Amino acid sequence: MSEVYFASATSYFPWQNMKISLEHLFDLLKIPQWIPERIRVGVKFETGHEDCTRYLSPLFVRTMLDEFTRLHKPPIGLDSINLWRGGRRYDPAGWVDKCRHHGFSMETLGTEIFLTEGYTGQDSKTLMNKLGKKIRVLEIGATVTYCQLLVMLTHVTGHPLLGFYGAIADLALGCTARKGKMRIHEDLLPTVNMEKCNLCGLCERMCEWDAIKVAETVVIDPKKCVGCGKCIVKCPRVAIEVTSNQIRDFQIKVADAASFIVQAMDSNIAYFNFLIDCTPHPDFDANSGIPFIPDIGILVSKDPVAIDKATLDLVNRVPGVRGSVAEQFNVLDNNTEKFKAISFAGAADPMVQITSAEELGLGSTKYELIDVWELENE
Ligand code: SF4
Ligand code: SF4
Repeated sequence: MSEVYFASATSYFPWQNMKISLEHLFDLLKIPQWIPERIRVGVKFETGHEDCTRYLSPLFVRTMLDEFTRLHKPPIGLDSINLWRGGRRYDPAGWVDKCRHHGFSMETLGTEIFLTEGYTGQDSKTLMNKLGKKIRVLEIGATVTYCQLLVMLTHVTGHPLLGFYGAIADLALGCTARKGKMRIHEDLLPTVNMEKCNLCGLCERMCEWDAIKVAETVVIDPKKCVGCGKCIVKCPRVAIEVTSNQIRDFQIKVADAASFIVQAMDSNIAYFNFLIDCTPHPDFDANSGIPFIPDIGILVSKDPVAIDKATLDLVNRVPGVRGSVAEQFNVLDNNTEKFKAISFAGAADPMVQITSAEELGLGSTKYELIDVWELENE
């Protein structure tokens, strides 16, 4: 059984606020005891799409970076470049500018931030992994392999094709290079349901690979389509579809990709899941909406499977927020499967990637949830 530490967002005293809770959770991991003396630490976080307003606060990132500086192990900050090519996140120079706009800079963080794919955005390392069910070769960000300890600061949100974006998704989609991301997505070739489509043409304008042509009907060129999923989530009439089998295969690939990162890091990874400002779409999308559950708190573990299962259980347990997608999809009640309900066509069951990751030996769905402040009072 794996340990998952939890600090609630509900603080009755100033000394239980989220920032102090984070420092406390860091101490509970006893990092100096499980890592070598001389190591390079990478702290991975998502700086968000240029138009996203609910990304992880730079204050949390700075707090974590300072903890390592205090231990005389100066860390580097890591973010990843997007698969979607539009906007400033695709181009490394634009990415630096966007980071500053979002409050992530040398001045605010006290350390440099690097792309997992290096300054060119193209540095990758190709790894082999015989464990993978669907992926045996994967390109991961070269800067990741430069570190001996990885600390994942994951802002938990919904995800249309995974149910939710948690620790497993962040390993797979946040630490792989663009080529690796494309390998994970390549089988998500969509089709168009012409009974729903009104030929508005948005998908043609949105597709960055010039794979869609809209005339009297909509044609997707399978030779050009890379399965990025952008048209699927942007079509205003939800007319662009993938099958539940394609979604399932994608989830299994995500678990496979996560196993590459765990293997490359020799399991020296600490996971922090932030269940705060939980929006329907991940931070790398501009389009999100209001949080659909109340703030829950921060989870910490050395086990990506356990922390994601605990995340799922906590989110299902709380009520949904009125006026959010929780109301739209009829999951306002406690003990409802919120992430699945708000996913694309309600078809992405988050347990698929969690179970698949467990089968790959990344961790256990059996966990003990330990409240950090109750522990303090014992
Ligand atoms: S965006 Fe949707 S509705 Fe518009 S043309 Fe494309 S498939 Fe049809
Ligand atoms: S057709 Fe859709 S899934 Fe394929 S590349 Fe274009 S936007 Fe991405």
